[in-house]
Amino acid sequence: MAADSGATVQESKDDGPKIPDKKKTKFDVVIIGAGPSGYTAGIYCSRAGYDTLILSGILPGGQLVNTTEVENYPGFENGIMGPDLMMIEMRKQCQRMGTTIVDDEAVDVDFRRKPLKVLTASEEYEGRAIIIATGANPRKLGLEGEETFGGKGVSYCATCDGPFFRNQELVVVGGGDSAVEEATFLTKFATTVHLVHRRDELRASKVMQDRAQSNEKIKFHWDSAVTDIKGDQKVQEVVLKNLKTNEESKLTVGGLFVAIGHEPNTKLFKNQIDLDEEGYVILKNKTHTNIEGVFAAGDVHDRIYRQAITAAGYGCMAAIDVDKYLTESADKQE
Ligand code: NAP
Repeated sequence: MAADSGATVQESKDDGPKIPDKKKTKFDVVIIGAGPSGYTAGIYCSRAGYDTLILSGILPGGQLVNTTEVENYPGFENGIMGPDLMMIEMRKQCQRMGTTIVDDEAVDVDFRRKPLKVLTASEEYEGRAIIIATGANPRKLGLEGEETFGGKGVSYCATCDGPFFRNQELVVVGGGDSAVEEATFLTKFATTVHLVHRRDELRASKVMQDRAQSNEKIKFHWDSAVTDIKGDQKVQEVVLKNLKTNEESKLTVGGLFVAIGHEPNTKLFKNQIDLDEEGYVILKNKTHTNIEGVFAAGDVHDRIYRQAITAAGYGCMAAIDVDKYLTESADKQE
């Protein structure tokens, strides 16, 4: 992947070779992560006049890079492909505002003292403020078919992809609030939703369970696991195994929704900022973490909404909070 390095390139007067300037490593704001929250925070911080760096990671763009069409991000009447939204529209808008984007991965941070530091394998970056926008990844079943049929019938977000599956039979895997909520939501579109859970009782809240159990379109498959996903160009069949009897069965379906939880990308911040028992960033006040000058935005703290547009909204909020924090810090120093 081509890197937009933090280095500025000076053109020599005689049109000779371009000599990279010394790498810039000190910024007003360092944003870790380049999904909708990171890019939005970049746009707002740069536009507010702050010298801003986004460390995008090795695979910039967040979860939407693995998505096909995005129909629910405002401003695109006919929808937009996920990679185009992230890698072209948001990234270029951010760069036009003046954000420096480095396609490198943060491997360590030091928030124990000022200046706040973010380290990659080769550089040490300093920021007067940091925005953590590293997102979360949906847990996977670990089946080969998840890779083969990603964006071709296998989905990790019913709100995002449900409307693509009108009048089809669908499978949802999981037994928590997400799975039950997604199964219920999907009955708006599907003819039947098969909810496959590995145990014989749901983890979801009672009210959600009751709603799902009274929905005639939802069929429960207890003590069961999806063991294979089959199809030609897209998902056509899902193989189930009863974990008590080892009996196998097949379902002819148009899609498989995996809803077995998410993992926030916060390993880097363990022992540096407060995380909850599942690893999500705990916000102390608005987008502030427990460390002064360190903020968080998007799926890295949000386990409820998890949409591109809500992540973008959180990115905006974090940038506004950073502006207030930096302005007040500057006032204190005067
Ligand atoms: P979760 O509560 O961790 O539930 C994950 C479910 O997936 C569990 O039923 C688990 O089975 C199952 N599972 C995990 N790994 C699996 C695997 N490898 N194969 C098959 N099944 C597997 O996750 P969640 O449902 O995403 O919810 C996360 C948090 O968000 C919860 O606190 C939840 O209350 C909250 N949430 C709230 C709402 C709402 O209030 N509207 C909506 C969504 C989520 P076991 O039960 O056997 O462990």
